[in-house]
Amino acid sequence: MKIRLISLTPTGFPNLALMKISAFHKACGDEVSTDEPDPDKVYISSPFSQYKNACDYSKMFPDAEIKYGGYGFSDVKLPDSIEHLMPDYSIFNCDRSMGFTTRGCIRNCWFCVVPKNEGNIRKNSPVQEFHHTDHDTIVLLDNNILYYNEWFMQNSDYILKNNLKVHIESGIDIRLVTNENAKRLEELRHQKRLHFAFDDLKYEQDLRRGIELLEGAGIKKRDLTCYILAWPGGFDDAWRRQEIIWKEYGIDPFIQVYNNSRKDPSIRKLARWCNLPQIRKSCEFSEYKRKITTQKKMSFSENI
Ligand code: SF4
Repeated sequence: MKIRLISLTPTGFPNLALMKISAFHKACGDEVSTDEPDPDKVYISSPFSQYKNACDYSKMFPDAEIKYGGYGFSDVKLPDSIEHLMPDYSIFNCDRSMGFTTRGCIRNCWFCVVPKNEGNIRKNSPVQEFHHTDHDTIVLLDNNILYYNEWFMQNSDYILKNNLKVHIESGIDIRLVTNENAKRLEELRHQKRLHFAFDDLKYEQDLRRGIELLEGAGIKKRDLTCYILAWPGGFDDAWRRQEIIWKEYGIDPFIQVYNNSRKDPSIRKLARWCNLPQIRKSCEFSEYKRKITTQKKMSFSENI
């Protein structure tokens, strides 16, 4: 059977489900590719719903069976017999190993699709299940990797013993930091900065405790980033959270504008100022606002 895989992922992030489907079909003796012109079966996967009606694949492949997957299309999960296969990284020339040691999340943040799509947290795969020995980097896609402390320690033991680099894609839940996992996070070789989120002032005390444990374990401020969700009309709240992170702890905040809605000009300005450290570190926000207002007035008067 000839299989064609289509990944609709604008980020260029290799599609994990398709890599597992590829492994499954290759093990069955099928031919798998991303450009087969006359396939018997086509798998189309996207995490985003905007691609759902972008193209009529049944017209493109009238003789093929077409399967849609990924949260952009449906919430159908891979069967266990495929979910736990070693992904076929070669199909997307992926040079890192990736997977979920856990799936789901214990939280229920109002803006997040994970609780709806993935449900409550549970253990999924040990790292060795998806680590290809050609790779020296592990990308952990967990939504809340610190929840099962012992499981995290076992998986990170494997990473340390094999001298692998790690990237924790979704960051860590700062409320679940303990002395033990902070020390372990410090021991790991992170490929990118470790990040966490501060999306609600209600957990300010837990956040402070978590940051202090990370710092106590030896993790440097420069190796941390804190994501701050900002929603239209929520300037004061976002301002206070970034101020705690930046002014009190000296950690870089990164303003994430909710739903990519840039309708609130004050949030837009805050994001521009905050997310460019060279600007944030060289002038206060009030000065930045004054400068851009003056620039706008000047370019307006030049144009009349
Ligand atoms: S902690 Fe993260 S993954 Fe869990 S619900 Fe909140 S935003 Fe989503």
